[in-house]
Amino acid sequence: MPAVLRVALPVPLPTLFDYLPPAAGEACVGSRVLVPFGRHKLVGVVVAIDAEAAVGSSRLKQVLRLLDDDALLDPELMQTLAWAAGYWLGAPGEAYANALPLALREAKPLPPIGDEYWSLTGAGRSAHDAGSRRGGSKALLDLLAAGALSAQELSERQPGWRDAARRLAAAGLLEPSERPPPDRPLPPSLAPQLSDEQQQAVAAVSASLGQYQPFLLDGVTGSGKTEVYLALIEQVLAQGKQALLLVPEIGLAPQTVRRLRERLGVIVEVLHSNLSEGDRARAWLRARASSARVILGTRSAVFTPLPQAGLIIVDEEHDSAYKQQEGFRYHARDLALVRARALGVPVLLGSGTPSLESLANAEAGRYRTLHLRARPGAVRPPQVQIIDMRAQRLEHGMSPALLGAVADTVARGEQALVFRNRRGYAPVLLCHACGWHAGCPRCDRPLTLHAGRRQLICHHCDYRQRLPAACPTCGAGDLKPQGQGTERLEEALLAQFPQVPVLRVDRETTRRRDAFEQLLATLSDDQPAILVGTQMLAKGHDLPNLTLVAIVGVDEGLHSVDFRAGERLAQLVVQVAGRAGRARKPGRVVLQTHQPEHPLLRSLLAQGYAAAARELLAERRLIQLPPYSHQVLLRAEAPQREQVDAFLAAAHAALPTNAQLQIAGPMPAPMPLRAGRHRGQLLLEAASRRTLHGMLRSWQLALIALPAARKVRWSLDVDPIDL
Ligand code: ADP
Ligand code: ZN
Ligand code: ZN
Repeated sequence: MPAVLRVALPVPLPTLFDYLPPAAGEACVGSRVLVPFGRHKLVGVVVAIDAEAAVGSSRLKQVLRLLDDDALLDPELMQTLAWAAGYWLGAPGEAYANALPLALREAKPLPPIGDEYWSLTGAGRSAHDAGSRRGGSKALLDLLAAGALSAQELSERQPGWRDAARRLAAAGLLEPSERPPPDRPLPPSLAPQLSDEQQQAVAAVSASLGQYQPFLLDGVTGSGKTEVYLALIEQVLAQGKQALLLVPEIGLAPQTVRRLRERLGVIVEVLHSNLSEGDRARAWLRARASSARVILGTRSAVFTPLPQAGLIIVDEEHDSAYKQQEGFRYHARDLALVRARALGVPVLLGSGTPSLESLANAEAGRYRTLHLRARPGAVRPPQVQIIDMRAQRLEHGMSPALLGAVADTVARGEQALVFRNRRGYAPVLLCHACGWHAGCPRCDRPLTLHAGRRQLICHHCDYRQRLPAACPTCGAGDLKPQGQGTERLEEALLAQFPQVPVLRVDRETTRRRDAFEQLLATLSDDQPAILVGTQMLAKGHDLPNLTLVAIVGVDEGLHSVDFRAGERLAQLVVQVAGRAGRARKPGRVVLQTHQPEHPLLRSLLAQGYAAAARELLAERRLIQLPPYSHQVLLRAEAPQREQVDAFLAAAHAALPTNAQLQIAGPMPAPMPLRAGRHRGQLLLEAASRRTLHGMLRSWQLALIALPAARKVRWSLDVDPIDL
């Protein structure tokens, strides 16, 4: 009987596809194959080799070409991917598509993975000395005049350098090579003497090297978590093993890369979605070949092969960026745990504001908690004060007490951060004469006024229109911005403090790469300044002269229907507040609110995040919400509401009867209309994960078969993080 290859293909169907083995070569599990699929050819991954086909083998097509003689994906990764596809209800092919860099999903030979170095030729040195080039070419010649650099170093120092490199190489001025220049690696820089708490944390994880054990490293920003990571990575490297460090955003990476490289003296492989596809594939392959020892990356880097794994670290583990919100909806933190178990290595989750999921796991004894309570260098934690803004005269949303605190700070020559989590000038534009407000025709939500661009913009679908001169309903010219965004606060603060520089940091002012770091770099450490911005300000460089954090408004978060809003609010407030008083100067935090008695704010500010999180967890337990129950959300959207309703009704009817299963809906989504599409959802909940997962695959297959499914766009989200 001929063997049959079961292949995962990049199509959104939750099945494998059977093929006959290729005419030439011996396929193995984990190797890629090129196969005929309908009228196309697709690259797939062999998942299993069976003696018999699911359908009669006479009808099977043959693999066109075997792309790898050896498995590209090792057994651990294959097993983890199969598990992940099953758990998050992905199509197997989708899981592989997420794991493999794009360049490896093509029917091409693997790119060579020798490190890529660039150096000047003799002609290049003359050109440099003559100063004959301009712009990017000149910058690149200048960089390389000091010695050869790797492609990765070039990417860090001169983003977009490849165009210039291509031009200069064509002119014979540069040449690439695979051989590292003789003068590396860098000598390692010295580590600080670790505190007792840091030493204890390092010792605990270190004692678990070589076996699976999750740790939660609980310490606010600046408490020295990164030093703990560094000490552990050093040990892992000394054992000849690999370390994977996940970070939520690549914006955080350049600093971290520099720090890791300077300390460890080895090349740090960076994997993130802004990398060119070739670079990404090479980095992935170097990890697979074990020549990459330290791998730093964002969400998708959790799929990096780690044949010599020693340790996995997930920094800022509470960050929602770890959850993929489209396509294959996996959670990188959760997957990191699964991989650590399969690889038999410890996994370290770090955060100053741990997710309630992780806290519950720690409480249940599944994770061991390590605390960093003291902040090295800082005098003491910032003082926090609630400002009751009821019945106050507000100046563009800012109370006299808040403005007073800013004035005191800049008068002392220090810096203040004014936080408001809304971009634009005002979230609503209202006609004072007739009550009309500008709304998005495609979302049924107010448009945000962007005064500088003279535009109204929908923050949900990016619909834009010119700012009207008069009310389109009654013709009155009396259009009034309601509420405050960062743009308006910037204007108001500039007017209040004309002698102090005011810097706005939000998505609008930091559109360009590195713009954020560049903006912060314009601040000098001994001059007063006011920073105004969104949650982007919660992260980034240390600002030693920043002593006040003024939170303008978080009340929206206290009213949200999303049960996670309280957790997010607490995390955000703590993260932003953590920017104050990082260095020798004591910090202060003021938070103005219309609800000074709100229990969450009270416990957060009086007792800190841990106490607030305990209360939130107790609430979740009481009303049986995650992490004390498990959820799956079916989302659907279509141009017409009837199509959504029909699909969700049929999906509901297709559910098995099970007393353990709670069903909420069908109901409208929190945004029932978005970008012109009607949206609805159906929420499944169960106390046991097994109950829930037991029926999901068959339900998913039933949904695919529904005639009503063809008229809607739908998705299943396991453990959704926004409802
Ligand atoms: P986190 O990762 O928790 O934000 P870091 O590890 O970046 O904290 O530490 C914050 C700052 O304190 C850094 O500038 C770091 O160099 C410094 N630091 C950390 N640990 C120590 C220590 N034991 N002694 C002196 N400085 C330290
Ligand atoms: Zn009007
Ligand atoms: Zn819209």
